[in-house]
Amino acid sequence: MTLAPADACLAPEEIAMALVLTHATVLTVDPQDRVLDDRDIRIDGRTIAAIGPGGTLAIPGDITLDCTRGLVMPGLVNTHTHAATALFRGLADDKPREFWPEGGYSVPGQERFTMADYRGSLAAACAEFLGNGVTTIADRVAGMDQLAPVIAASGMRAVVGSTIADAGGPVDWGATERVIERYGVDPMASRISAGIAPHALDTCSDALLAECARRAERHGAKVFLHVAQSAAEVASIRRRGHSGALACLRCAGLTGPDVIAAHCIYLDEDEIDGFCADGTAICHCPASNLKIEARTLPLARYLGRTPVGLGTDWTASNNSMDMFWEMRLAALVGKMKADDPTVLDTRQMLRLATLDGAKVLGIDHLVGSVEPGKRADLVVLDLAALEMAPLHDAISNVVYSASPRSVRDVLVDGEIRVRDHRLVQDHRSWAEAS
Ligand SMILES: [Zn+2]
Repeated sequence: MTLAPADACLAPEEIAMALVLTHATVLTVDPQDRVLDDRDIRIDGRTIAAIGPGGTLAIPGDITLDCTRGLVMPGLVNTHTHAATALFRGLADDKPREFWPEGGYSVPGQERFTMADYRGSLAAACAEFLGNGVTTIADRVAGMDQLAPVIAASGMRAVVGSTIADAGGPVDWGATERVIERYGVDPMASRISAGIAPHALDTCSDALLAECARRAERHGAKVFLHVAQSAAEVASIRRRGHSGALACLRCAGLTGPDVIAAHCIYLDEDEIDGFCADGTAICHCPASNLKIEARTLPLARYLGRTPVGLGTDWTASNNSMDMFWEMRLAALVGKMKADDPTVLDTRQMLRLATLDGAKVLGIDHLVGSVEPGKRADLVVLDLAALEMAPLHDAISNVVYSASPRSVRDVLVDGEIRVRDHRLVQDHRSWAEAS
């Protein structure tokens, strides 16, 4: 019997009970993008301890999960969302660009919702994400100190930030500081970790953006913000004397891989090259951008030049929390934008939704691929599902055929969160977490 190397010197009674996924097809997203047939995956605690031939890694006392008809892949990584606002779904379809108030995004009537509503909405969103195979989110809204406990209760991995801005009055750093104090900024130390989340270039002054850069450096935190999401935003920062979004970011010291910019759909050619030269990370949210701006970024121009991940954004501008859909849309619209059907191949697209997204968030050493030593954030797709057959090319099926209904099981940190298409917990209890 083959055991994980770490177990090899232990007597049988000293080997802790493990979870073993047996006889799986494994979509590794490793450096060779290997797809492995008939493999066992041994999970000790929260970590993938070993991957070996099918039927070789389980020992008496282990818990096994039969994956004979399962395709194991890394959990999907959503690099930009506002999960607490899931209750806005359906409130803003087919609107003109002017519908969105300058200096912020809101929907009519949202003031009627209370923090309790948002906590319930967030719990449901986490349930939906898990059921859709999303194991990590980068989430940001105001009041995150009151919301992050809900995400923590769901068992998801998350990088969270409390939105700050000073366009409407003095900035309040309280929620940001509380989130950093409670969860820290190290994803190795906590499944929930914190970043700094200025809202956007038009809702934050140059002084506030520079202060965000200083605080991020002091804490060792990443900075998450919206960049060049609308023409009105770019016009606003030009009135402040900047030539565009890139100049504004550089002026504030917000460049490089620790700065994570969502959208970036109003950048000119020089700014695209500048973003890549700076290595600033980008969250590409194709559905959101297409729905409210009828616009997208030239994805193929960024790949391999700067970190890029995919995001769903919020339900008011997307409605869906489906990263399979986002991956497929990014590929198809990206091909159109490049006027080239050969770009954005299936391997690249799968990476964008998994390992590359993890790299954007600075957690690619932890998650994003199925390899020994990585945390067991895994999705098992149901190979008995009609949309997964035939399996000529597993990666192709995942990118172009799979959907949330294909998701059978979901694990985060080795804990089973979805089993046989159903959440293992009642998500309503998460809304009570403090
Ligand atoms: Zn957003």
